[in-house]
Amino acid sequence: MAKPFPEPHPFPSPPATTSSRWKVTTIHERCIGCQACLARCPEAALRLDGQTISRDHERCSLCLDCVEICPVMAHEALVRG
Ligand code: SF4
Ligand code: SF4
Repeated sequence: MAKPFPEPHPFPSPPATTSSRWKVTTIHERCIGCQACLARCPEAALRLDGQTISRDHERCSLCLDCVEICPVMAHEALVRG
């Protein structure tokens, strides 16, 4: 089980009324394959396919836990265009 993150959550939760405007993406070039995000994701929305993390956006609840735990900041929360 992943250890609790020691600091307060550094990212604001997306407002419920605008949550459809947010998504979390992965910068694959940064990923070192530690799998910490897979273990942390409460929705089992992440998979490691070979060397690439993939995200099921239908399952993703935008909790940002993967953004928080990744040691190389490979996940980013983005506002959809
Ligand atoms: S936590 Fe970051 S470095 Fe580790 S597998 Fe996930 S995306 Fe890759
Ligand atoms: S934002 Fe939360 S639910 Fe979505 S992939 Fe990351 S850890 Fe999983």
